Amino acid sequence: MVSLNTKRFCVSCGREDVELIGLLCPSCYSKRKELFSVPRSISIKTCKICGSQWSSGKWMKAGDVEDTIYVEIMKHASIDENVKEYKADVELSKDKNGKDIAIVIFTGKIGNENISIRKDVYINNENSLCDSCMKKRGRFYDAIVQLRSKNGNLNEKRVFFESFFSREIVDNLSDVKIGKEGIDYYFINRTIAKRLVSSITSMMKVEVKESFEGESLKNGKRNGKLVISLRI
Ligand SMILES: [Zn+2]
Ligand SMILES: [Zn+2]
Repeated sequence: MVSLNTKRFCVSCGREDVELIGLLCPSCYSKRKELFSVPRSISIKTCKICGSQWSSGKWMKAGDVEDTIYVEIMKHASIDENVKEYKADVELSKDKNGKDIAIVIFTGKIGNENISIRKDVYINNENSLCDSCMKKRGRFYDAIVQLRSKNGNLNEKRVFFESFFSREIVDNLSDVKIGKEGIDYYFINRTIAKRLVSSITSMMKVEVKESFEGESLKNGKRNGKLVISLRI
């Protein structure tokens, strides 16, 4: 006699008495399917003057760059319909060649089995100018603050330096030029540039050198753009 008791089993591993998703048990399903797919890379833009970020087709005030990247990745991610209770955590890191990556850890459930999957997404972060800074660009400048690093680690120094930027300072910048030797900040008003420099020198020892660019004598008065070199 043929048994009518047809047990359901996973077609891949043969396990019985398990919850099946289609023909597979949760564990085989997880192995065979791409549960989470993300783009290989995403592009974001950061305004080099005010730090605004381009995401979802518009410029947004400088926020947490991780949030912008999270939104950008999730916009392009696809998640298998059988994954339940999923969440994604994003952490910024570098690959072995020093390229920026976002490590995305997806967690969730397939059936009643917990899953955790890591995906790496390359980040192309383009230095750019936002619309409002673009409008200011080319405006008159009266002072340049040149940020230079004593030990070559400019990025760290930049973060420190820019932590002194108030709204007033950001609004006063007409350009930022990033070069090999350092970063040049162009100020519309030299008083604001000087105030920034003195608030930094009151906090720590820095080498400050002042000079003038395009100096000429006009009616017996010195005339030129103030250049302040700051080596920290
Ligand atoms: Zn199985
Ligand atoms: Zn901007």
